[in-house]
Amino acid sequence: MSIAASWPDAKASSLWEDVSPRYPFNDPLRGDHRVDVVVIGGGYTGLSTALHLAQAGYSVALLEAREIGWGGSGRNNGQVIPVLAGAEPEAITQRFGDTGARFVALVRDSAQFLFDLAAEHGIDCEAEQAGWFQPAHTPAHLSVSEARCTAWAAVGAPCEMLDKPAGDRLLGSGFWHGGMLNAQGGHINPLMLARGLAEACKRAGVQVFEDSPVSSITRENGRWAVSAGTGRLHGETVVQATGAYGGPNGRLARSVVPLTAWQLATEPLSDALQREILPARQAMSDTRNDLYYFRWDARGRLITGAAMMVPVSVTNRLQTMLRARLLRAYPQVGPLRFSHIWSGYVGVTPDHFPHFHRLDTGYFAATGFNGRGVALAVSAGLELAQLVGGEPDVALPFSDLHPIPMQPALRRVARGALVYYRWKDRQKP
Ligand SMILES: Cc1cc2nc3c(=O)[nH]c(=O)nc-3n(C[C@H](O)[C@H](O)[C@H](O)COP(=O)(O)OP(=O)(O)OC[C@H]3O[C@@H](n4cnc5c(N)ncnc54)[C@H](O)[C@@H]3O)c2cc1C
Repeated sequence: MSIAASWPDAKASSLWEDVSPRYPFNDPLRGDHRVDVVVIGGGYTGLSTALHLAQAGYSVALLEAREIGWGGSGRNNGQVIPVLAGAEPEAITQRFGDTGARFVALVRDSAQFLFDLAAEHGIDCEAEQAGWFQPAHTPAHLSVSEARCTAWAAVGAPCEMLDKPAGDRLLGSGFWHGGMLNAQGGHINPLMLARGLAEACKRAGVQVFEDSPVSSITRENGRWAVSAGTGRLHGETVVQATGAYGGPNGRLARSVVPLTAWQLATEPLSDALQREILPARQAMSDTRNDLYYFRWDARGRLITGAAMMVPVSVTNRLQTMLRARLLRAYPQVGPLRFSHIWSGYVGVTPDHFPHFHRLDTGYFAATGFNGRGVALAVSAGLELAQLVGGEPDVALPFSDLHPIPMQPALRRVARGALVYYRWKDRQKP
């Protein structure tokens, strides 16, 4: 069975699939074609790379195994978050020097970049730049948030600390303890963003092929030959942007752990509840390891999610767990029903950094955004395009490829780590 055939087919019940306008299917690759650059993967990384390359005058073809936005890009919570999951500016510059400093600036500006790019290309993705708030889940975590806020503010990020009363007002809840607000964050309809980027790509001249799983990448006569189904592309450069969804390079696929993350959408809630809960409509995700996160969509649904330790009776247990979480934070929601449940793979790396690789001459890859790729993957696409164009000082910290030994087993261990995280999250104060 191919990797693509083994993916969870949970997209049918995705809220985004249900509420987004129909998208015309792009034909699969057939025959032989010659282009400058072959981009593999129709998520934000691949689409943004292809768009910026085409705008710079390159001939580009993009191959997507299933549909545009099939991966994390069409299934995520849509929170536009301009910080990394596991590293603050100092750690990034310490590890990567000048490139690290450029990368910090890239992360810092990534939310604004996304909203500006969507506006520039007329992409309707239900964008709301209402800010991103990270409330502390214990009083002690407020000092962690303060340190984070100071670190990001020192590099020019528009962060501010809100004390408990101000945080409570923003959240419409007394459940948290204040936290960090970043005014440039917000939320989007993720699938509409992916599809909008694909349309922008096509307008810029990119050839977009769906239902075209790449099976091999080989070197032939000084060019890369990329095979998908009955077609072949011959390019000078290949950019592989297959995220947590594997792809044709086994070593790259084994360098991230694809963790299943579940998303749930409530039925539309009353206007009164929408005025009380997150009244200014920020995206929020708290300081827990096993995050509590919520956001409104454009139709009055709260969208949330979680990972599960044991993959048995998942949908029932998820509904019970997330209903309880919501009631803890917002008792006024009362009896709740979820209208949509779906899942996707988050690409987790052992060091919690996103990974960028020069795999060979003219063969680049990006993967492992650790659940924080909405804003960053779009910005990374511009950098990858500039790299292909010969820019020596792009803002991406490249590293060597390290396939993870026993990666399939690690996937189960990583799920087990949730036990520890949930225990740690419950510790006082
Ligand atoms: C449930 C969930 C919730 C999330 N929530 C958030 C959030 O709120 N905020 C945030 O910042 N991040 C979030 N993320 C992470 C974010 O979605 C990802 O980091 C981001 O979408 C990664 O984009 P990408 O283009 O690198 O990869 P993807 O979007 O995964 O795209 C990879 C593409 O490659 C294709 N592909 C794979 N193999 C092949 C092949 N052989 N040939 C051709 N194509 C292939 C796949 O079909 C897929 O479409 C979430 C992720 C998930 C799964």
